[in-house]
Amino acid sequence: MNVSDSERLSSGLTALGLEKNDDVNSDLVVINTCVVRQSAEDTATGLLGKLKKIKKKNPSMMICVMGCMVGPKTNVLEKRFPHVDVWAAPQRFEKILDPVSDQISEDGNELDGCLPDLLPLHPKIASFVPIIHGCNKFCSFCIIPYRRGREISKTIPEVKAEVEKLVRRGAKEVTLLGQNVDSFGHDLDPRVDLADLLEVINSIEGLIRLRFLTSHPNDMSSKIIKSIRDLPKVCETINLPFQAGNNEVLENMRRGYTREEYLEKIQEIRETIPNVSVTTDLIIGFPGETRDQFEQSLDIVERVRFDKVHASIYSDRPGTIASRKMGDDVSRDEKKLRMAKMVNLQKNISTDLNLAYKGANQTVLVENKSDNRFSGRSRLDKLVYLEGEGVEIGDFVDVKITETRTWSLTGSIQKINNTLEEQLIEH
Ligand code: SF4
Repeated sequence: MNVSDSERLSSGLTALGLEKNDDVNSDLVVINTCVVRQSAEDTATGLLGKLKKIKKKNPSMMICVMGCMVGPKTNVLEKRFPHVDVWAAPQRFEKILDPVSDQISEDGNELDGCLPDLLPLHPKIASFVPIIHGCNKFCSFCIIPYRRGREISKTIPEVKAEVEKLVRRGAKEVTLLGQNVDSFGHDLDPRVDLADLLEVINSIEGLIRLRFLTSHPNDMSSKIIKSIRDLPKVCETINLPFQAGNNEVLENMRRGYTREEYLEKIQEIRETIPNVSVTTDLIIGFPGETRDQFEQSLDIVERVRFDKVHASIYSDRPGTIASRKMGDDVSRDEKKLRMAKMVNLQKNISTDLNLAYKGANQTVLVENKSDNRFSGRSRLDKLVYLEGEGVEIGDFVDVKITETRTWSLTGSIQKINNTLEEQLIEH
């Protein structure tokens, strides 16, 4: 979400005639903040402290803070950091673009109330498109609903227009984003859902791959699961966080499902979509989680055999229900021990799953080049390093997998396969 917001603001500022510069001594500094963890917020406030000294030497410098740090209680921050010129809540791009345009209006670039085009002129081959902001779930460990507010969906025509523009400008894959992307459209009148949107976006000419992030087990409906199976451009990759494997811990987290319901959902997904890749998120050391309860998280990972597990060690997040009511009683050492067990288990599973790709043919969208080596991702989101010549970023290439590792594969290039029809027939 933040990467996408930064790209959009950057496009708007470029349209106003500004040049991008990574130096903190610039005329304008924008800090796009994340507050999921307290440590991220502390990093942002630390940087604001440093900027105070820099601004003293250069008083005309403009400092803007955007993102989740800017919420209903910004007046406390305003008092603490009076040198900040603009506080802009997520997606309130005009809060920054308007004063910037006023300041440079002598050059004739004033906005006059109209926002410039915020989509990048040269988007990434695989681009992000936020489709719903906020979250209505209030999991006990999460600060997002307090900072990003309740769910607000874009309309289907709005999302379609954005994706069409990105595709015209070169994007070939888009990932639709939301804190809880599966509840897209539930707030709209008439009510629509993610499956309706996927169907519309799937029909956009020139778009080749479509993904979405992040799902909630309670909102991933059978209709959405079937649309992943039926729509040729929608990649068979699902990130479905389970967060904890024990029912008491899940209840304390206020996740709204049991381990049995989670496993049933996985079963439905696997029965409906052959060859689906499933990844997950989980928290280690949630307040009150005993060793036995943690073992149940290991058990879920063992049973489901996820393609990837994003495990995070629990840390107290002031402002959340868990912080107010539950404390943080699992010791740091115990959390680290559990994390090591989890990483070890998942390493073995990922190594095994990747081994099955040896000798297989895959189609890879080339996304990066570093150290003279191209890499990209397969339809099932595997990172593949390429061996061979003659490709460019943005190509679809057929490769034969020659090497497999825990977190990536290597493929030798067989041929460039840039025709949409071939992609869809292959599917
Ligand atoms: S569903 Fe996700 S974003 Fe929403 S409250 Fe729970 S963890 Fe936070």
